[in-house]
Parts: sequence; C-alpha cells; structure tokens
Amino acid sequence: MSALQPVRGTHDILPEEHRRFRHVIDTAREVAERYGYHEMATPIFEFADVFKRTLGDTSDIVTKEMYTFTDRGGDTVTLRPEGTAGVARALISGGLHQHLPLKFFYEGPMFRYERPQKGRLRQFHQIGIELLGVAGPQGDIEAIAQGAAVLRELGVIDRTVLELNTLGDGESRLAYRNALVAYFARHQDRLSADSRLRLERNPLRILDSKDQGDRDLFAEAPDYSDFLNPASRDFFARVAEGLDSLGIAYKQNPRLVRGLDYYCHTAFEFTTEALGAQGTVMGGGRYDGLVEVMGGPATPGVGWAAGIERLAMLVEKAPPVRRPIAVVPIGAEMEIEALKIAERLRSERFAVELGYAGNLAKRLKRADKLAAALAVLVGGNELSRGAVVLRDLDTGRQDEVSLQDLGERLASFR
Ligand code: ATP
Ligand code: MG
Repeated sequence: MSALQPVRGTHDILPEEHRRFRHVIDTAREVAERYGYHEMATPIFEFADVFKRTLGDTSDIVTKEMYTFTDRGGDTVTLRPEGTAGVARALISGGLHQHLPLKFFYEGPMFRYERPQKGRLRQFHQIGIELLGVAGPQGDIEAIAQGAAVLRELGVIDRTVLELNTLGDGESRLAYRNALVAYFARHQDRLSADSRLRLERNPLRILDSKDQGDRDLFAEAPDYSDFLNPASRDFFARVAEGLDSLGIAYKQNPRLVRGLDYYCHTAFEFTTEALGAQGTVMGGGRYDGLVEVMGGPATPGVGWAAGIERLAMLVEKAPPVRRPIAVVPIGAEMEIEALKIAERLRSERFAVELGYAGNLAKRLKRADKLAAALAVLVGGNELSRGAVVLRDLDTGRQDEVSLQDLGERLASFR
C-alpha cells in the first residue's frame, strides 16, 4: 500500500477513457430525453439506513460491500452502492408523489467493497433510469425499450442478449419461495455456507449464487413459472407481447431473480460474452414495494442501471477529439496579440490551442501533436495590415485573411 497509488479498486479516468465515458453518458442522456426522462442527482452518501432498509440485511451489498462510516457528527453514513434507493428517498423527502408519474435519469459514481478485477471496481459508475408511478406492463416495456435504445445507439446491442424473467406478484413469490425452501432444504448438505444462510433468511438469493456446488443444484430446482398465479402470468404475457411487437428479442431465463421482497414481475439483464466473467452490462426490473418499505406511500416503480466502465469497454472506438485551431505567434513579441486572437475565437465558440513557447517550428510541432486542423499565424507585418496567415495543416496551403473575416473563414471548424 502506497499513498501515491490509487486505492485498490479505484482508477483514474484519463482523457482517452474519459471520452468513452462521456460518450456513454451523453448517449444515454440523450436517449433518456427522447423517452421523457429528466436527469436528477442524489448525494453520493446517504444515511446508512437508506440502503440497509431497501437492500435488505441479507443482501451481498449490505453484508459485504458497503462503505459505511461514522462521520464527525456521529451519523452513520454510507457511500451509495446503487442509485435506486437514493431516488426513492428523494421521492419521499421531496414530497414528489403529487407529481407522479415521474421519470428520472441519473449517472454517477457508486461504491462497493468488492474483489477488484476486470470490469469489477470499488468505485465504479452507473447510468440508470427510474420510472415511478406506472403500475401496468407498459412501464416495463418502455423501460426495457429505452435501455435497448441506449445499447443500440452505442452500437453494442448486437453483442448483448436480453435475458428476461418474471417474479410475479407477492402471492406467486411466496408460493415459489416455499417450494425453493423445500427443495434446497432437502439438499442442504450440498449447499455452500453462504447459501445455507440464505436458505433461512432469503432463499431466492441462492439462485444468485456463483458457487459451482450451488449452481449444480439449480438444474433440478423448481421453476418459477410453475408458481405464477393467473394475474402474474397475464402481466408477463403482456410485457412479452409488447417487446415482441417492438421487435426486441429476448431469451427467457427462469433463474434470473432478484433477492429482495419488493421486487416483482419483470426482471431483466442485458448480458454479453465480450467482457469475460463480468458479463452483465445492464440490470433492472420492477420494484413496486420499495418506496413503501422506505416508509413512503405505495408507489409502483421500474428501472435499470448499467455499468459505465463495462459499456465503455464494449464501445469499440472512442469518439474522436475535436480538432482545435492553433494560434501561433511568430516571435515572442507577438504572444500577447496571439493570446488576444485566441481569446476572441474561443468566445466565438471555436476550440483553440496556443503554441506556447519556442521558435515557429516548435510551436507548429505542438499544433501538429494536438491534431490541429489549422494554424492562425500571427506575425507583425500582417497584423499591421489587420490580417493573419491561415495555414491548413493537412495540406500546408496558406493565405492571408483579414481579422474581420477570420470568424467566417473558420466557420466550418466550429
Ligand atoms: P454483478 O452480478 O456483476 O455483481 P450486480 O447484480 O451486483 O452485478 P447491479 O447491482 O444490478 O449489479 O448493478 C447494475 C450494473 O452495474 C451491473 O450490471 C454492472 O454493469 C455494474 N456494476 C455492478 N457492480 C459493479 C462493479 N463492482 N464494478 C463495475 N461495474 C459494476
Ligand atoms: Mg454485485
């Protein structure tokens, strides 16, 4: 451990990677707008209870992954491990219920104490949406369609598969839970220690286990679909029908569950084989009980979150940097004049870089390194005529342009 290293599981996002990052966020934000979602932000830390209550005392996040500490005032706070709990808290504390339905988009850092590996960090970043106040399958269909649109727009959807399942309503869930408990109790000796604990406290989460011994038991485990009541079946059929009619392909995965009681009906993930072990890029579903669990009025909700790092890895080409215009003084005595011209062009919304020091050749070399498209050469002779020399750095062609016409000449580089 060295104080000069980033903390394990965190990393610096340098400009090349940051461009990919921004591309993911900008794309998601733009698509969210098209679907009527509005961006919001919640604090990066909340009272620990916000997450303990919503994620449940037995979830991996709460038991193993949260960054929780006591602040100087004695409050127990947690760096947020995910976005939904904060949004639900904001809905309640902001009294936003009167405005339902509400549609939110968010992006930002999340924190989980996990074992770092490729695609798994301790500080990672998510984009996500929450659709609150829509109880019917239309909400689920739209949330999934919006997620698919983000992946399509990023050019990665062909490398993902949409996995879909339903958890049904509360009654169906209880029936399934009982069947699961009965099944796994019969095979208790073959369960991992973690899953034996889950069997008592939260049996559905056993299906989330990554332990191979546990997974070997899944093949014979009861199927959720056999425990859905007619209303739940109907809900799922309508979601599936909606996706079909929008041409959104999916694969039913009866083992896709969410461990917490407030999840119901639709659960989905977009997964990929292109990232090795960390294959889930986007996960979401319906969480009708969540706001109530937090102490607010019963409010249906559906949403998803996606890892920006994982998406950025899937995006093949980082978007190109904007090519700047280089303003280059000819001789040190022209530096102030060059600065003034640069400042003027920047105020006219051009991206402008300066050749800072050295002879003309050195300054032009810097312009080249910055991939500048053009150089504005500022020399005493031309300037006395109210002009500069404009050089096309790709072709080497140059001509004199009056300062008055400069903005217009550069217009296509804005
Ligand atoms: P996993 O099964 O990979 O642990 P999860 O079920 O914990 O994922 P969610 O809580 O549903 O993941 O979060 C949604 C998305 O956020 C994931 O699909 C993934 O893309 C991303 N994500 C989650 N945890 C991490 C992490 N530690 N590092 C990077 N990305 C992450
Ligand atoms: Mg996880």
